[in-house]
Amino acid sequence: SVENVKSSSVAKIKVVVRKRPLNKKETAKHEEDIIETVSNSLTVHETKLKVDLTQYVEKHEFVFDAVLNEEVTNDEVYRETVEPIVPIIFQRTKATCFAYGQTGSGKTYTMKPLPLKASRDILKLMHHTYRNQGFQLFVSFFEIYGGKLFDLLNDRKKLCMREDGKQQVCIVGLQEYRVSDVETIKELIEQGNATRSTGTTGANEESSRSHAILQLAIKRSVDGNGSKPPRLVGKLSFIDLAGSERGADTTDNDKQTRIEGAEINKSLLALKECIRALDNDQGHIPFRGSKLTEVLRDSFVGDSRTVMISCISPSSGSCEHTLNTLRYADRVK
Ligand code: ADP
Ligand code: MG
Repeated sequence: SVENVKSSSVAKIKVVVRKRPLNKKETAKHEEDIIETVSNSLTVHETKLKVDLTQYVEKHEFVFDAVLNEEVTNDEVYRETVEPIVPIIFQRTKATCFAYGQTGSGKTYTMKPLPLKASRDILKLMHHTYRNQGFQLFVSFFEIYGGKLFDLLNDRKKLCMREDGKQQVCIVGLQEYRVSDVETIKELIEQGNATRSTGTTGANEESSRSHAILQLAIKRSVDGNGSKPPRLVGKLSFIDLAGSERGADTTDNDKQTRIEGAEINKSLLALKECIRALDNDQGHIPFRGSKLTEVLRDSFVGDSRTVMISCISPSSGSCEHTLNTLRYADRVK
């Protein structure tokens, strides 16, 4: 399945929606599935009230590059989203895969297996197609929380960012692990995910306010004997974004929550603008809007690729959040 494909044959931006199944909590509250999917289109059936309090249903239709319904497996998500971009990472391409959506919509469930599946394919390419050509794979994993960077593979050590003047972003002190087998990558991903949820108020609560960024970097040693550091060839970033509803926490009574909400709001808006600029081949990429987009700066310039996976709950109780997510995804495209 993994072949040497030309980078030009892979879309610059792909927007995919994933609908998860109704869960027990939603069923217990007698909430209904209001999302109808037909091939790559999707209809939200929103129940509204007239002034005389009688109900009516308003339909909202959306079309995306792909719509993945509740029966689609994580393997199929991988095939639809990341698998096509893996080979072009060897051709000096930077690619980013985002999971966007409200807390509980399935972002982490969707994102968690993707880096592992991608590394498996990257290693396969290194061992076969690009055998003995000096390619190396590196993994790093960090988090942006309240506008600050923390290393998830090094005890949440605080990190800072620097630009090197050549449009390359350098995160000072970030641990990068060279990996050559899938088992080690699996352990690193698990370690990072466990570190991510170290919070005072419980795992989900904390992680919903942070962006988690896992990067797979492909480097190449040019001299063969390892006397010079290997050069970066391509990079694949996986980003489990903060819960989109958190961007609305800007009027909360708690000051810290308000600050975090404002930062999340800013970063999600800046992200949308950067992806749109990428699509229009605009010279100016507005990445300075937030920490998230600054960190991803080098992934927004040149021959880069973006996959946005918008995660939604099927439930009537999440209708408003779902419409917000779909409108965001629609704007990105
Ligand atoms: P988020 O990261 O967006 O807050 P999670 O990925 O944690 O959401 O998902 C919330 C819950 O729903 C988890 O218990 C997860 O296992 C479950 N879930 C999410 N998506 C699916 C799916 N497609 N199929 C089955 N269960 C899912
Ligand atoms: Mg999550």
